[in-house]
Amino acid sequence: MWNNPISLYMKLTSIIAGAALAVSVTATAEVFSADPPKQEFSYVNDRFADIEVLRYKVPGFEDLSLRQKQLVYYLTEAAIWGRDILWDQNCKYNLPIRYMLEDVYANYSGDRKLDPQYKEFETYLKQVWFANGIHHHYSTDKFVPGFSREFLQSELAKLPADAVWRPMEAELLEVIFNPDVYAKRVNQAEGQDLILTSANNMYEGVTQKEGEDFYAAMKKADDATPVSYGLNARVVKDKDGKIVEQVYRLGGHYGEAIAHIVENLEKAMEFAENDAQRKTIAKLIDYYRTGDLRTFDDYSIQWVEDTASQVDFINGFIESYGDPLGMTGSWESIVNFKNIPASHRTEVLSADAQWFENNSPVDPRFRKEEVKGVSAKVITAAILAGDAYPSTPIGINLPNANWIRAAHGSKSVTIENITQAYDEASQGNGFNEEFVIDDATCKLLDKYLFVTDNLHTDLHECLGHGSGRLLPGVDPDALKAHGSTLEEARADLFALYYLGDPKLVEIGLLDSPDAYKAQYYKYILNGMMTQLMRIEPGKDVEEAHMRNRKLIAEWTYEKGRPDNVIELVKRDGKTFIKINDYEKLRQLFGQLLGEVQRIKSEGDYDAGAALVETYAVKVDPAVHKEVLDRYAHLNIAPYRGFVNPTYRQIFDGNGNVVDVEIEYNEDFIPQMLRYGKDYNGLKR
Ligand code: ZN
Repeated sequence: MWNNPISLYMKLTSIIAGAALAVSVTATAEVFSADPPKQEFSYVNDRFADIEVLRYKVPGFEDLSLRQKQLVYYLTEAAIWGRDILWDQNCKYNLPIRYMLEDVYANYSGDRKLDPQYKEFETYLKQVWFANGIHHHYSTDKFVPGFSREFLQSELAKLPADAVWRPMEAELLEVIFNPDVYAKRVNQAEGQDLILTSANNMYEGVTQKEGEDFYAAMKKADDATPVSYGLNARVVKDKDGKIVEQVYRLGGHYGEAIAHIVENLEKAMEFAENDAQRKTIAKLIDYYRTGDLRTFDDYSIQWVEDTASQVDFINGFIESYGDPLGMTGSWESIVNFKNIPASHRTEVLSADAQWFENNSPVDPRFRKEEVKGVSAKVITAAILAGDAYPSTPIGINLPNANWIRAAHGSKSVTIENITQAYDEASQGNGFNEEFVIDDATCKLLDKYLFVTDNLHTDLHECLGHGSGRLLPGVDPDALKAHGSTLEEARADLFALYYLGDPKLVEIGLLDSPDAYKAQYYKYILNGMMTQLMRIEPGKDVEEAHMRNRKLIAEWTYEKGRPDNVIELVKRDGKTFIKINDYEKLRQLFGQLLGEVQRIKSEGDYDAGAALVETYAVKVDPAVHKEVLDRYAHLNIAPYRGFVNPTYRQIFDGNGNVVDVEIEYNEDFIPQMLRYGKDYNGLKR
């Protein structure tokens, strides 16, 4: 499960160690290569539409051993090779459209700075690159081109007649320009056929009912260790009208790209840090070869139990946010290594996992009697790929299979070099001055938001998702389309409730009993107001993490009204959040946690649906308009993502690798073009 960034818009003044503005390459590398120019590091790399592209640093990479660096190197190669799988999963037209647009981009001979049609074209192409396809990465709405069909047609006419996309040209133009065709990648609207109305490529010619029945027939009633049905397959009707799976595996669907992934995983294996890690990588390769979900579970167990290795990775079909039925995983990869000093924080939490479970405000019947193997660490991302790139989560908790989590625990991470980049890039953007009610609260946020943001992510990932249990016989998918929202709410509420617990000061993770208030204020402000800047006027909140935040903020606002816990203060026509009673707010978080856990534990679909429909979906148009207006003059991008650093092997005169060098000098467009050209996994 992902924890997405929620505090992108907060100005923070905390100084972070190691955030010097210039980065130089390693001294060892210079011996074997020409002196590269000193790189000036800038967090902000590109800005277009509603997107800001940032860079992140990979502090500590230089300190890894050569062997670890080589392991990272091959894992990053295995990561980037999966890119085109995700593009195709997102929509079957994405790759041919990208090939076509990149050809236009390369061939354009007019004035790139002055031609307004070209400028709109470039913005559109950047949006498509950023979203891994023609639908917005977050809203999943199809992009509306700002250039004309005529412009594109006249550019296409200049390109070779045998271009790979040429046979599909008319169809691709229709997909780009007709707003009614493939309008939404993942449709979650209640009452519509969620498969037929979703543009993703995980189903073909199958209705929602057929898809649900297909999977329901696979499930065995009393299977205590069910595989993650559908995780690695596209569901289609064969020529006889029978519903079948096209399995993603070597020699199967996406086999070409998977071959490159496997090739690099095999090389990575040679540099594994220990035997357990080598076996884990071997098992993953085995799974890619067979597509057998039982093997994936075996791999997941080995992976979750390997806590000794410093270098770690996610690589595969993992999260199912891209499937309206929540079955098929989108391909993603993150390569990372443990940030040892910062991991002290999560180790302290993990050591007390049972205390947190036993003291949580949920019915004891729904608590875990024994919390197993909550392994939590703070990591440094070395590469982001697939569904985790360019937009990326800040925390991850895996594996997703409930029975594996119960029997073997889960691995939970906070990606601190990413949160740090967000923080650094937000400084001085004017957000606090515009939205925070008073100076005292601004100071509170300046002082405690960064530390409580990280702690919130730690708690959400390493304790929240892992807490609680299902009653025997309850279907883990019982909450259906609302499952993701309620699961995120459960993890967030667990984190919020405990952030305000004196225990955190006791165990030394916070140095003030007031620190949690910074997170509470930001959370309510974001949930009730500022996150709406991501929603277009007239639209509902749809994405699971956003729904979860709105649910929590709106529910606590309403339930706290008799005591005026949260107040909406009007000043000069602007609305401000005022929190009058933080302790009471904490009790409300606890109360809602109890209810959401009950819903999950009992599989109470109706109660879950009522919570989501009442609090999480509908937007007050007046509040929405106000938020958009106030944002407009701040010029803050609603969404952010990242370019990756580049890694280069350095050889001595005999062809031996003597170092792996990291560089931060590739910009967004060159990176997109290079990935498209060099990691063309499904062959144009
Ligand atoms: Zn989560």
